[in-house]
Amino acid sequence: MPIQSKHPETLAVHAGFRTAPGTHSVAVPIHQTTSYQFESTEHAANLFALKELGNIYSRIMNPTCDAFEQRVAAMEGGVAALALASGQAASTYCVLNLCEAGDNFVTSTDLYGGTWNLFANTLRQMGIEARFVDPTDPEAFRRAVDERTRLFYAETLPNPKLNVFPIAEVAAIGRELGIPLVVDNTSAPVICKPLQMGAAVVMYSATKYMGGHGTSIGGIVVDGGNFDWEAWGDRFPTLNTPDQSYHGAVWTEAVKPLGPIAFIIRMRVILLRDIGAAMSPFNAFQVIQGIETLPLRMRQHCENAILTARFLRDHPKVTKVIHPSLQDGEMRRRADSAFTGGGYGALIGFELDGGTEAGRRFIEALELFYHVANIGDARSLAIHPATTTHSQLAPEDQLASGVSPGYVRLSIGIEHPDDIIADLSQALEKV
Ligand code: PLP
Repeated sequence: MPIQSKHPETLAVHAGFRTAPGTHSVAVPIHQTTSYQFESTEHAANLFALKELGNIYSRIMNPTCDAFEQRVAAMEGGVAALALASGQAASTYCVLNLCEAGDNFVTSTDLYGGTWNLFANTLRQMGIEARFVDPTDPEAFRRAVDERTRLFYAETLPNPKLNVFPIAEVAAIGRELGIPLVVDNTSAPVICKPLQMGAAVVMYSATKYMGGHGTSIGGIVVDGGNFDWEAWGDRFPTLNTPDQSYHGAVWTEAVKPLGPIAFIIRMRVILLRDIGAAMSPFNAFQVIQGIETLPLRMRQHCENAILTARFLRDHPKVTKVIHPSLQDGEMRRRADSAFTGGGYGALIGFELDGGTEAGRRFIEALELFYHVANIGDARSLAIHPATTTHSQLAPEDQLASGVSPGYVRLSIGIEHPDDIIADLSQALEKV
């Protein structure tokens, strides 16, 4: 019997897997196998024809990945999920599942740099146009739409600006026009539930908070099962017209007996089959270990971040602190409406008087914090974007993306808050 609960703490430990049939193993086994023996020729034929769901080959499905997928789908309130090799693979597949050459999608300008490159360059080279709009005005999404627009895309809590995206507003505009909102919720698992706010699809870089221990790259896409792809048939030819590569299957019709999972099934049996960014079972196992403590860790991350943000706000060498807990007005309203799971996330941006040199000196003085290009680890992390992630950009483009020369980004870990603050305090003394 699957465990039913509305509490993420319980689902994180029990959803999707209880014990392994046969061995009664309580931990999710690592199924390190490429393939699965068919019971008969009829069984094999049924699996290939999708008359029955089951394991064929680990590029397309794997029981360890399946436990990960079911657990995350349950925690998000979605109908099904797909594990992928990285967060980058997850965002790429979300677009390729709906767009063909000549199509476009509308995306927030506030994106992780890797996603920006993917959208502005690699997808453009494939004939898919990303239309970038400023998320401070949700109506900008509506204005950018035409008949070839296939999706809206955004991040819940994009750094470095750390302005919470207006998920409910843009999802509602999309639903009026027949356009699904895909949300990258990497920075806000547990605390934000995009599917409940009207998003159709949610995705993660599992590399960050979900795995949580900085050991494994991974990604996942969750289908909300809440978007009527058939009602907007002309907008979604990949889901509503015969698929030549799958003996003419029309995905919205073919999967009807299995539930509202056309989007995620097509992503698995077409994109994963053909492009193959499969998650390894070992990485799925690692991320599952992380998920079991994810709600607990998020609580500690968020509490520590609030204390750290207040400390920085009151420090004389800090000219500006960016954290949703310190925002007011419209940005605070957006944060409060999105973060129904408690907390304001654990990414903090702040600016030091003294520009690039001050940023450099601060980073070099840190002892507890790691200086890395990552977020969402149990450990506290820091980076100075002007000399690293944003160093290729012209100074005016750095500023437009929210990075001043003295800007520092912190990803607050789960250490004791006194130790986090003590490290920041001693490093600020040396600036
Ligand atoms: N989305 C966000 C918000 C990220 O921060 C990252 C990585 O930093 C990614 C996607 C890409 O994930 P991955 O590094 O797992 O490919």
